[in-house]
Amino acid sequence: MFTTNPFDDDHLHEECGVFGIYGHAGAASHTALGLHALQHRGQEAAGIVTFDGEHFHSHRGLGHVADNFGTEAVIRQLPGHMAVGHVRYSTTGDTMLRNVQPLFADFEFGGLAIGHNGNLTNALTIRKQLVRRGCLFQSTTDTEVIVHLIAISLYSTVEERMIDALRQVEGAYSLVALTHNAVIGVRDPLGIRPLVLGRLPNEGAWIIASETCALDIVGADFVRDVEPGELVILDESGLRSIKPFAKQARRFCIFEYIYFARPDSVMEGTSVYEVRKQIGRELARESGVEADVIIPVPDSGVPAALGYAAQAGIPFELGIIRNHYVGRTFIEPTDTIRHLGVKLKHNANRAHINGKRVVLVDDSIVRGTTSTKIVEMVRQAGATEVHMRISSPPTTHSCFYGIDTPEREKLLAYRHDVAAMAKLIGVDSLAFISLDGLYRAVGETGRNAKQPQFCDACFTGDYPILLTDQEAGKLTDMLSLMTEGH
Ligand code: AMP
Repeated sequence: MFTTNPFDDDHLHEECGVFGIYGHAGAASHTALGLHALQHRGQEAAGIVTFDGEHFHSHRGLGHVADNFGTEAVIRQLPGHMAVGHVRYSTTGDTMLRNVQPLFADFEFGGLAIGHNGNLTNALTIRKQLVRRGCLFQSTTDTEVIVHLIAISLYSTVEERMIDALRQVEGAYSLVALTHNAVIGVRDPLGIRPLVLGRLPNEGAWIIASETCALDIVGADFVRDVEPGELVILDESGLRSIKPFAKQARRFCIFEYIYFARPDSVMEGTSVYEVRKQIGRELARESGVEADVIIPVPDSGVPAALGYAAQAGIPFELGIIRNHYVGRTFIEPTDTIRHLGVKLKHNANRAHINGKRVVLVDDSIVRGTTSTKIVEMVRQAGATEVHMRISSPPTTHSCFYGIDTPEREKLLAYRHDVAAMAKLIGVDSLAFISLDGLYRAVGETGRNAKQPQFCDACFTGDYPILLTDQEAGKLTDMLSLMTEGH
């Protein structure tokens, strides 16, 4: 039986990735390639919708891009010069085919496909109102709320209806949409999630994608980031840009730099890889410790460990080797295999650990499961001291903008201070990058407390967008408690 990899269960999960292309005969194959480059953003499902001038075509499936779009036969079923695609790890909604994006609907003005990266924070509230008005929902995703709001909008053009719909939603969204004559990209007014614009060489097809690594794979040039609050419309007249929302200070998700994005991507003008290395250097400056070797927890800790080692002047070694063939789907293991836990994914490279004082570098501690197992493994391999350095501040709050975090009570850093965490994880010392150190690593002089330059809610609890559904949930809980009390 195939099931979700039980060893991944304790982790936060990736969000989603989107891709759109206008004006290329191989729109579907380019989209498949683009989604393949964005696979790290979501491994649960993938989908592509194309338009061939007359009809829309779509294919969606659970699993990886290569499993669903790896054959010529599938790509041949998706003709057209325009396409949008989506890779998904659900942050809302269940895992079922009807939730797999791009969502598609027929409207008064024709068909529309939408792919969404991010998470709406008032989707449930709006959904309840829409259901009361008679809207029939097909899926359990928050994205469908946008589809219904577009459907009931009294404006006439697709663009106006989209803007009308988006004015009513709160939350984080980077969208790609496909109509019978355009591919549209939109980024929420704070620009929480990434979205970039690219173009194939020699004035070729326009592309919209979550990350620049998806442009690289199809040989497209990076043009620019889609601006927060901007709609870009790619159609036969080229590229048009509309900025229909009141301008707000941008709050790009800083966790994209720390963990989510691929290190070869450039976001908001800054290389993800360089930021990670810089965080490592800052970490070494802030909380250096005498040691013999710097070891990354692969793969996410590698760039930060390189920076740390360079700054500290201590050798960097791959003291932990990761098996890349442990996918998200895995044949359900027996209890014996389950017991082996992390070893399925990581193994100690004993020669570089035995008898040494080790600094382990990883990007984050969420529940603490990974760190605890890795530290135990490194001790068993003969480390004399184990120090842990983390390239993010403590994760004390859940994300409601598209990153699947466990509820707050399950976050180790919410329940314990650093000293207690060190004890639980079993290290000789534990340190996290400071908030200001993190901001320095992304090129700022520090965090502007009055107007933070990024969304860092997972580390500070400073949520830049209203959490309407959350608040409504709390109210319901309170009311039910009050009722129970009577
Ligand atoms: P935990 O074992 O719960 O403490 O999770 C921390 C580990 O999960 C670290 O090794 C991270 O590299 C990894 N991680 C952090 N954020 C995410 C995420 N959003 N999705 C998947 N893994 C993550």
